Amino acid sequence: MDYAKYIKSVMDFPTKGINFRDITSLLEEGPVYRAAINDLAAFAESKNAEIVVGPEARGFVIGGPVAYSLGIGFVPVRKPGKLPREVATVSYKKEYGIDTLCIHKDSIKPGQRVLVTDDLLATGGTIEATIQLVEQLGGVVVGVAFLIELTGLGGSKLLKDYDVLSLINY
Ligand code: AMP
Repeated sequence: MDYAKYIKSVMDFPTKGINFRDITSLLEEGPVYRAAINDLAAFAESKNAEIVVGPEARGFVIGGPVAYSLGIGFVPVRKPGKLPREVATVSYKKEYGIDTLCIHKDSIKPGQRVLVTDDLLATGGTIEATIQLVEQLGGVVVGVAFLIELTGLGGSKLLKDYDVLSLINY
């Protein structure tokens, strides 16, 4: 399916110079949303993924349905102060300042096969931190899946050791 035609591009959002790729217009189209989730789920299944991990907030909109469709678990990765039990944390550099992400320490079992997913790959900082959290817990990242990949921002270089699927490339 030509998923790109369901993405709305918004220039200068949230700041000047950013071409924001809005996935909400794709999510609004039920059959298209379902087809995209099915494609990502087929990829996860081909890797024998046993659990799905996604960072807030748009990673939940992708990862949750993928996990549901395969009948496997979903683990949220969140900003500090949101997860109630003991967490592992990773800090990473953003364009402006440092960001931190957390995961429940007991959410992934050592050796468990993990699909990591998010809506969009840009510089790769978010997904790299998410992968580090999974690997800290002993999980094995068997695939990394996105709706959208912005090529040329270095994200795919960071992921060169992983199997990556992106449904749309810009
Ligand atoms: P990064 O850590 O640079 O790979 O950024 C990834 C996160 O930032 C994704 O979860 C996206 O939700 C968001 N993001 C970054 N750039 C864009 C963009 N041009 N359009 C929409 N979302 C973006």
